[in-house]
Amino acid sequence: MTLHVAIVGAGPAGIYAGNILAHQYPDVEIDLFDSLPAPYGLIRYGVAPDHPRIKGIVNSLHEMLNDGKIRFYGNVTFGTDLTLSDIKQHYHAVIFATGAIKDAKLDIPGIDLPGSYGAADFVAWYDGHPDFPRTWPLEAKQVAVLGNGNVALDVARVLAKHADDMLSTDIPANVYEGLKASPVTDVHVFGRRGPANIKFTPIELRELGEVEDVDIVLYDEDFPEGWFDEDAEGVTNQHKVMARILESWRDRELTGASRRLHLHFYSTPVAILGDEKVTGIKFERTGTGTFFEQDVQAVYRAIGYFGSELPEVPFDEKLGVISNHGGRVSDGVYATGWIKRGPVGLIGHTKSDATETIENLVADIPKLAEPASPGTVLETLNARGVQYTDWQGWLKLNAYEQSLGEKENRERIKVVDRDEQVKISRG
Ligand code: NAP
Repeated sequence: MTLHVAIVGAGPAGIYAGNILAHQYPDVEIDLFDSLPAPYGLIRYGVAPDHPRIKGIVNSLHEMLNDGKIRFYGNVTFGTDLTLSDIKQHYHAVIFATGAIKDAKLDIPGIDLPGSYGAADFVAWYDGHPDFPRTWPLEAKQVAVLGNGNVALDVARVLAKHADDMLSTDIPANVYEGLKASPVTDVHVFGRRGPANIKFTPIELRELGEVEDVDIVLYDEDFPEGWFDEDAEGVTNQHKVMARILESWRDRELTGASRRLHLHFYSTPVAILGDEKVTGIKFERTGTGTFFEQDVQAVYRAIGYFGSELPEVPFDEKLGVISNHGGRVSDGVYATGWIKRGPVGLIGHTKSDATETIENLVADIPKLAEPASPGTVLETLNARGVQYTDWQGWLKLNAYEQSLGEKENRERIKVVDRDEQVKISRG
């Protein structure tokens, strides 16, 4: 029996799931949908532009889509252009791999003041996401970044880095101009726990100390005697490497760089200060009942992402995930990636996630309801006038972006406008 499967979300989680399914059950037709005109989700719109090594994962995802087993359709919004009942009409099963793109909430006074931002929005801006504004108010000289995960590092690094050092990347022209005009001098990263409890990873942490003309500043009060116990429960080699990196920075002389990146610990945010806009932030020295303030004109919270609810799909409001058991949601409905298990883990981890979901889907095949009209989804999309893009369209847009880059000796310059992307893809 030819199995017809839809996947919603063309980021790494969706593509890995499609690829694993195609290998486990070769008699399958897979259609991969995304609301954006271009594929690759988080890699195109979440990974920092100055992380070419991670962006390079695109090459293997490209191979997976290029072998013809999985058909990509972009610019198709689930819930409006294509509903769950449409999907049930055309497919035996659907896998949701829509990720987590919103910022987790931080419920403290002042969080809605102008100058207080979510990291996810800033990331979408610097990665040229078509649905986000093209300008970003980079007016602050002193900035706070809340959180001790890799997103906080991305945001802090992009804010602190000189724009010209980003020119080798695929940043759009408006992002370069915005960063170039930034008056920032000090970026303060605040973790609520101690330096032994950071959620960074070693490569990303080390990279921070290599940014041109930026000094890393650490504070002795955050490193009490014996602050790192390598025999403590849960300490990994990664923690040990990061402890050495932090210690080496404590020993380093400041160079008088024009920008500074401060790492503060034991700082729990309690209020963002200011009347009409952000003028500072107040912290509790974690667990001590003593408070301190830091003057800043902007605050970025990088305290984790949160999934978004999809029409007609059961959602766990507390965890921000589709309610599921091992990726099973309901008859013929599955989930994988961050929308299945929450926004933790590196891109490669979505592979094991996908393996579990696909094993369960394949085990369910005998029970899956036969769709009324398999293989005819394009008729539905055409009847609705949906301007979908496809794989050939992506190859055109990809070549166009690369040709824009070539003129300026860069690998690629992203097209940011949705209509323009669709026009180039469909042209
Ligand atoms: P994360 O690693 O879970 O870090 C979230 C941080 O926010 C933690 O330090 C957490 O502190 C803190 N936090 C949570 N709630 C808070 C609150 N109310 N007040 C203050 N701090 C709070 O999440 P992420 O940085 O969003 O990253 C998500 C995943 O993507 C991670 O697996 C990450 O490694 C990965 N990623 C990787 C890269 C890369 O370059 N390799 C880049 C970006 C993201 P506690 O630890 O105390 O809870």
